[in-house]
Amino acid sequence: MMQVIEHPVEKLRSALRSTRKDLIQTYEQYSREEKRLLEEGLLPGSPLFRPVTVHSDSDWIPSHPEAPQDFLSFYSNPYRSTPNNGHKTIYIQTIGSFGEGVGITEQYVEWLRGYCQAFYYGLVVKLLPPVTVASTGCTFRVNSNTHNLQLHAGELLNFLKKKKPKDAFCIVGITMIDLYPKDSWNFVFGQASLTEGMGVFSFARYDDDFYTRNYAGRLKKAIKLKPGDYSVFQGYYTPPITSTLLFRSCKTLTHEIGHIFGIKHCLWLQCVMQGSNHLEESDRRPPDVCPICLRKLQSALGFKIADRYKALLHWIENEVSCSGQHLGKPTQAFQGFREWLCVKTRFPSPN
Ligand SMILES: [Zn+2]
Ligand SMILES: [Zn+2]
Repeated sequence: MMQVIEHPVEKLRSALRSTRKDLIQTYEQYSREEKRLLEEGLLPGSPLFRPVTVHSDSDWIPSHPEAPQDFLSFYSNPYRSTPNNGHKTIYIQTIGSFGEGVGITEQYVEWLRGYCQAFYYGLVVKLLPPVTVASTGCTFRVNSNTHNLQLHAGELLNFLKKKKPKDAFCIVGITMIDLYPKDSWNFVFGQASLTEGMGVFSFARYDDDFYTRNYAGRLKKAIKLKPGDYSVFQGYYTPPITSTLLFRSCKTLTHEIGHIFGIKHCLWLQCVMQGSNHLEESDRRPPDVCPICLRKLQSALGFKIADRYKALLHWIENEVSCSGQHLGKPTQAFQGFREWLCVKTRFPSPN
């Protein structure tokens, strides 16, 4: 049965504004329009940020009890990392290919790059040249249940550590190959080191067929893998590029980078920073941060809230093609978000 976790508006407002005098003061320095943008998201009936719902015991909240993080506890955490002048670039490292055909990988990661740059407004997001699985030198295996290829996540993090540029705020590795953290584990969606500002994430399980017998990434016959022989990755199946895959990838990537900023799982409202145990639960998350997490992000990045909304809307509405590619950006899955952003950006700023 479904459980709704609804907080009184006053409690949400105090999680947003905080109870500390100096932080209430900085809140008061937001323009009237910014306060409106923040506060209307707290009200019942907000289309994007409804109360959190728990659908079953396998959902995140029942299986991982966590304390809610309000703005004050985020702000006063001395260990969180904040971008600064020497470190304000997010680097994305693609590992292996995405989709089939020449140029598709480049196009896909360019869409992800643009989305992250709008989402983390004020930071620069750069792509490192894609690398093959072989060049990471990482250990791999065939999963004995799902019979697909998997890469060792911890070894990929070691690889990324060597690749991290000096001016990086963080480096994130992305791949369409499934990951595992250690031999005894079935799989992992991703793994991160928050203190070192890096993470690696796989979108393999976002393929609509992943959990079916039809999944094309299943190896047909038992093959004997030779350590260090990466030929098995040549022509290995990767999910087709669809709007749903792009939407899921954008949400995962922004969620995970959110953790690198020190934002914990959100328990306030439906929010992209909610924890998730399984695909159906990830799909339930809205694409954006709730007002409380938005203030955390705003305080780390210093953007004007309306400018960030405009940048996200611009990304959805504008086709940017790179290197002469003419593959249309599949944004159907973003249409609900687009409509919401249109309402948010409709009123011209009074100042
Ligand atoms: Zn998370
Ligand atoms: Zn939130």
